[in-house]
Amino acid sequence: MSRRHTLHYAGTPAKVASRGQRVSRHYAGRVAIDLHTHSTASDGTESPAVVVQRAVEAGVTTVALTDHDTTLGWDEAADAAREHGIRLVRGIEVSCSRRGKSIHLLAYLPDPDDAELVDELARARDSRDTRLDRMVALMAADGIPVTVESVRAEVEDGATAGRPHIADALVTAGVIEHRDEAFARWLGIGSPYYVAHYAPDPVRAIGLVRAAGGVPVVAHPWSGTRGRVVGDALVEELADAGLAGLEVHHRDHTPDAVRHLTALARSLGLLATGSSDYHGEGKLNRLGENTTSAAVLEAIEGLATGSVVVEP
Ligand code: AMP
Ligand code: ZN
Ligand code: FE
Ligand code: FE
Repeated sequence: MSRRHTLHYAGTPAKVASRGQRVSRHYAGRVAIDLHTHSTASDGTESPAVVVQRAVEAGVTTVALTDHDTTLGWDEAADAAREHGIRLVRGIEVSCSRRGKSIHLLAYLPDPDDAELVDELARARDSRDTRLDRMVALMAADGIPVTVESVRAEVEDGATAGRPHIADALVTAGVIEHRDEAFARWLGIGSPYYVAHYAPDPVRAIGLVRAAGGVPVVAHPWSGTRGRVVGDALVEELADAGLAGLEVHHRDHTPDAVRHLTALARSLGLLATGSSDYHGEGKLNRLGENTTSAAVLEAIEGLATGSVVVEP
């Protein structure tokens, strides 16, 4: 974007210092850019403001809030980012589906008021609600102590409901100790209780995100443990459809996956990002454990026309 923005991550100590002590204290001349986090606007365990605060504490200097299928947390995160003096990239992790396979698409800096995108996200969220009720009914019928009310109680008003909220209800009830256990026992894709929800095909989602001025990046393409491997042919198809990047550096990727995806991104002219996919206490992922280069963020900002990075 503008020259002013590049000042924020050019990384020379003098420029960093000029941003003011509050921020420079946390990154000692370095930048840490984490472009994938979740709050209570979806299935993270901390409010948007707390996610931003934790990012500061972790030494992250630019953070993206990318809740599943919603922009609900954007305003609170923006206020917190201004207050704490870090940059905020407003994003969404858009659920997509292709032949029963779940694909996650990070959308950076789209217009949050774009009617078509708003409608599509609402449709996915509605379907997530029905689907959660069906999963809970199947589980309850099998004697697992969970009710729709107990699960609803775990979801903030207006937030995107997901399987982690079923897990949270079981944790609250003392049935299990951590979300992980619920996924291993009942919530995984191979489980008899698993029910899919509506989600757009990724080609359609990429079109919607681009039309809303956003920058689409496939999240954790080789997150194989969750049956979500996005193969090379699909990545190529998505690149032709307007995909801008791949999330290469992610906890779910082995070193081999990182090598493969780095080469694939390079060969297709896609940006390569890295991020934590932080979910608060809901997952082990720690803020800043994977990061994106300043040059790649600058490229993302250059492509975006839907909204801008919130500056401190
Ligand atoms: P859903 O959006 O309902 O399909 O649920 C998927 C979400 O569950 C993703 O955002 C994951 O981060 C989360 N998830 C998947 N596996 C686990 C796990 N083993 N422990 C905690 N969270 C998980
Ligand atoms: Zn999640
Ligand atoms: Fe994801
Ligand atoms: Fe995520």
